[in-house]
Amino acid sequence: MFDWSPSWWISEAPDWAQAARVRMVNEQIAARGVRDTRVLDAMKKVPRHLFVPPALERRAYDDSPLPIGQGQTISQPYIVGSMTDLLDASPGMKVLEIGTGSGYQAAILAEVGLRVFSIEIVPGLAAQARALLERLGYRQVTLRTGDGYAGWKEEAPFDRIIVTAAPPEVPQALVDQLKPGGKMVVPVGREYQELLVIDKGPDGKVKRRVEYPVMFVPMVKGR
Ligand code: SAH
Repeated sequence: MFDWSPSWWISEAPDWAQAARVRMVNEQIAARGVRDTRVLDAMKKVPRHLFVPPALERRAYDDSPLPIGQGQTISQPYIVGSMTDLLDASPGMKVLEIGTGSGYQAAILAEVGLRVFSIEIVPGLAAQARALLERLGYRQVTLRTGDGYAGWKEEAPFDRIIVTAAPPEVPQALVDQLKPGGKMVVPVGREYQELLVIDKGPDGKVKRRVEYPVMFVPMVKGR
């Protein structure tokens, strides 16, 4: 029987998307200083246009965030590339993502060889991301619907943590679930937000540095 599932055209990615991805990586990501070839290759590979609503497909590789429904957004490609670069992770590491959203960042993390655990608070988004990541074959991604402020106790500790919604302050539970020697990339603030990189030393001591100002949707408290 002919299986009219979307995968027939994923495997034969339309030329426009492949070309748009290469241009996106060259002009928006490599040109702005991301050098890690694993990150660049991942972004050339993951079909970002499938992670946005169909009506916005043609804008998926533009230099901007896009709405994904439920008042949420998929981050600008540069931010995804830069945050992945700042994580400075090695293949095989265990990473926790807070704010699955479309699942695009999770797919990039999987593509660079990480074991991904991702939490999304909006059930509809979590279900959609789960279906898409499954369809694309990302078996190294495990999703859960819930409140990221508590982290993921059963899977802790993590080598890396990436937060893609902005809490007003760094959530202590997440710092606690970071391995010694681990690293967290997190946007922090209310109206004004900064992207922080938090390093946990081998002795458990925490150091933070500010990277650059950002604009993320707020990380909301679970009900
Ligand atoms: N990483 C996503 C973009 C994230 S947008 C992508 O690649 O598409 C931020 C997401 O964080 C939204 O989907 C929002 O619902 C989610 N979010 C907000 N507060 C949260 C919380 N407390 N726990 C888990 N997810 C949360």
